[in-house]
Amino acid sequence: MAQDEKAKKSFKDTLNLPHTDFPIRANAQIEDPKIIDRWKKDDVYTKTFHKNEGKQTYLLHDGPPYANGHIHLGTAYNKTLKDIIAKSERMAGKHVPVTPGWDCHGLPIELKVSKEFPGVDKDTLRKKCRESATGWIEIQKEEFKNLGVMMDWNNPYYTMDFVQEADTVRAFAECAERGYISRKNKTVAWCASCQTVLATVEIEHYERKDPSIFVEFPLEAQRAKDIFKTDNPVSMLMWTTTPWTVPLNRALFLKPKTSYELLEINGKQVVVGAKLADKVCATLGVDKKVLATCMAEDLVGAQTNHPFIAGQHSPIFADNFVGLEDGTAVVHSAPGCGPEDYDMGIKYGIEIFSPLSADGRYTKGIKPEELEGMLVTDALGWVIQKLQETDTLLFKTSIKHSYPHCWRCRNGLMFRATKQWFCELQHNDLSKRALDAIKNNIEFLPSGMSNHLKSAIGTRAEWCLSRQRTWGTPIVAAICVACDTEHTSPSFMRKVAEGIEKFGVEYWASVDLRELLPQDTTCKSCGSADFRKEEDILDVWFDAGVTHFTVLKKRGQKYPADIYVEGTDQHRGWFQSSLLTSLMLDERPAMTTIATHGYTVDDKGRKMSKSLGNVIAPHELIEKIGVDGLRLWVASVDFEGDIATSDALMENVSEVNRKVRNTARFLLSNLYDFKIATDAVPLEKMRMIDRYALHELAMFSQKVRAAYDAKDITAVFHALTDYCTGELSAFYLDIIKDRLYTDQADSVERRSAQTVCWYILDVLTHLIAPIMSITAEQISDHYQTDKTESIHLQDFKDVPFTWDYQAQKLGVLSLNESAAELASYNKKREKQWEILCNLRSSLLKAIEKLRKQGIVKHSLEAKVTIVMNRDKDNISLLKELLDEVESIGQSKHEFLKEFCIVSDCEIIDEEDEDQDDVDTDDESFAEFSDCIQSDSGLHVKAEHASGSKCPRCWKWEASGDQDGLCARCQKVVRRQIH
Ligand SMILES: [Zn+2]
Ligand SMILES: [Zn+2]
Ligand SMILES: [Zn+2]
Repeated sequence: MAQDEKAKKSFKDTLNLPHTDFPIRANAQIEDPKIIDRWKKDDVYTKTFHKNEGKQTYLLHDGPPYANGHIHLGTAYNKTLKDIIAKSERMAGKHVPVTPGWDCHGLPIELKVSKEFPGVDKDTLRKKCRESATGWIEIQKEEFKNLGVMMDWNNPYYTMDFVQEADTVRAFAECAERGYISRKNKTVAWCASCQTVLATVEIEHYERKDPSIFVEFPLEAQRAKDIFKTDNPVSMLMWTTTPWTVPLNRALFLKPKTSYELLEINGKQVVVGAKLADKVCATLGVDKKVLATCMAEDLVGAQTNHPFIAGQHSPIFADNFVGLEDGTAVVHSAPGCGPEDYDMGIKYGIEIFSPLSADGRYTKGIKPEELEGMLVTDALGWVIQKLQETDTLLFKTSIKHSYPHCWRCRNGLMFRATKQWFCELQHNDLSKRALDAIKNNIEFLPSGMSNHLKSAIGTRAEWCLSRQRTWGTPIVAAICVACDTEHTSPSFMRKVAEGIEKFGVEYWASVDLRELLPQDTTCKSCGSADFRKEEDILDVWFDAGVTHFTVLKKRGQKYPADIYVEGTDQHRGWFQSSLLTSLMLDERPAMTTIATHGYTVDDKGRKMSKSLGNVIAPHELIEKIGVDGLRLWVASVDFEGDIATSDALMENVSEVNRKVRNTARFLLSNLYDFKIATDAVPLEKMRMIDRYALHELAMFSQKVRAAYDAKDITAVFHALTDYCTGELSAFYLDIIKDRLYTDQADSVERRSAQTVCWYILDVLTHLIAPIMSITAEQISDHYQTDKTESIHLQDFKDVPFTWDYQAQKLGVLSLNESAAELASYNKKREKQWEILCNLRSSLLKAIEKLRKQGIVKHSLEAKVTIVMNRDKDNISLLKELLDEVESIGQSKHEFLKEFCIVSDCEIIDEEDEDQDDVDTDDESFAEFSDCIQSDSGLHVKAEHASGSKCPRCWKWEASGDQDGLCARCQKVVRRQIH
């Protein structure tokens, strides 16, 4: 009876039980918005922009997202990654002003608005585009704030801002002044019925039936003889489905390193690709008769005669674009009326011959002259008849194939060359200088990515800057109505920029050209005084590309920027246009580092797209895993590869989120009665295990800081996970639980543990802040009793507590010790702890064996015995450490009991002459021989501890106490009572 009551007596009130208001669950749906609202009210955004002014600046230049819809997951990923980088640089003590931007001009907005308001005039269209972009900017701005992103939201940049539009024109003027701008022919997709150029997205492909003709281009006789040893005429057999383009032919293309055959067909000798010879003969219904073969290279450079234009020659080239699926592998090339033909024209310097009018007729210059004025759609019959007359049409049939059509009127498109504005990539070695800069001046993260930009620039044949659109920055020029010659100058552009600065791009649309041009201006080419305004606008990549000029330079920010961070698709977009324009305007790259990341893909690795229906919106993710969950997901994704999303990944991220939160909660819950200013225990009074925890904290901090510095955010994520789970939860915090809960509340022992807990909490909270921005703010609200400003306006904490620092602080090492000496001290310490931790895991294994046998339920019920063998280096290092433990006031038994969380620990030191030798081959040790690493010089065994279980702390001890309390608990309880 009495025994039962004794057992029931509760000592709960005598324990220092943990408590905190910090909730276990993040409750993100309710709590996240509260923190974000606070940041808005406190305008943390402007404060972060100005923080650390006067100190070293780190400039991240925000690439502008497009203002035409809700942000998608890729945008959210990108902005969050930038935010993590900016916050970590700022907390490292730098001035990190981030000006967010938006790309506002261009086709996507214009198309969307034109669909919404069909048929509106250009002025209205511009007005509606401006309104649409403005609306989306406000929406996106809130969406970015809701991701916890801190940029200067009150002072962003917009490419449609009047001043910025004017500065974009000024940037163009400067490029022109330096000789980089020209106006020349480019072949574009054209709708003759709508009389307009079409952008790629406006082209739709439908099946269409077209003639399919095989045309002979006679090969020069001498060459034919040399190659095929024949005196009879030889022709290259060309195949086309657009007969009207034959008069514009300027070349023939073969496939390189491919064999060609001379066939005899219907008494004629024609050359076709060997791989297509069977197909051609089958199509023509003839038996294949091969007379000779040669390689494409034998024919390259030879001339052919045009089938019906006297004196017109078509040279033979070879290029890999030539396919071997259809036709004859002898490709007709008319650079003035075919898109691929145009590219080849640019590549091989072939004339861009395009005497074609806007309404689809041949114009002056066409040969034969009789074609002038004829609609190209009517030319089909004419061309076929002409080919028959000249006996150069070997065969004619028809073909059903996919053909480009206009999305508006659904008519088939033609291609014609129109005058366009270009950036001259060869001028002043621009391309070459860009490649040099990529090699020598720009750092790439990940490093292999430089190849992408290199290939984007290296393969770029030209940069067409003009777009036949309405919503954008105008190309300021006057065009002669009579002869289409352009008239402009940098000073003229700058004059117009003044007006644009006041009234926006709308100024150029509304201003009367006669007000701008001197009265007696006449065309330098034809003398006419009749001019029109250029109506083309600039490629939006130019707008966005020159933001290093319109934003960084104009706002007096650091130039060049330290970092540009975008998806890999921007190698062909923003990175490229930024690099090229900065080399034109400033002779050096606008950035010193380019960091790139992949695309967002679903769990099957497919790129997210509306058509696949696998798009995840950022808000859906936030609803599931909270803002910090999303941010942790960003940190967890290695940005070298694709940005994967899957339930398993999200579950992993949520687990880490919970782990960090719980760690912080444990620390907070044991600091309720602790003030760092008054209760902290100095290093010299700290226990060895607490000193070790400080060293580990310092190492963790160093590791994370280095990873942030290298922009290796994934490494931060992993270090954080390892530290919270391995180092803290399963090790240090587990070890000190007993001390925190059961030792006298204000004892040095408990205060020592609390001091370390406080440091861990403080350091950890700051280190997670760039990623887990909301959680860090919430934690700091709880432990920073004098908190006056957001965690995001605070710096990372210095944690110097490495072993060597501690040794110097404690006078063990002198302050002027050499770096090598300090390093070797650290090394020795780390070795000692490695031995100790190995010993611990051996003991835990031994205890686990007992647990499996049902002998103990918890390690606290166990007693362990450790035998230290003689003459092992390991043992002397271990003993040295244990001696030190004793010298600072804790017996090595107590130390090892605490360290292994057991009730009793016996240490047998074989070198100790007072102790008897132990037979470690004895059964009781042999049972645990697999728990110890061979060659460690140690033997262990484990058994149930003797005595009884203390009802207060659950340790086993022989107790004479009336309540069965252990000696330590007796002391604590009795002191509390008196
Ligand atoms: Zn059309
Ligand atoms: Zn003229
Ligand atoms: Zn006890």
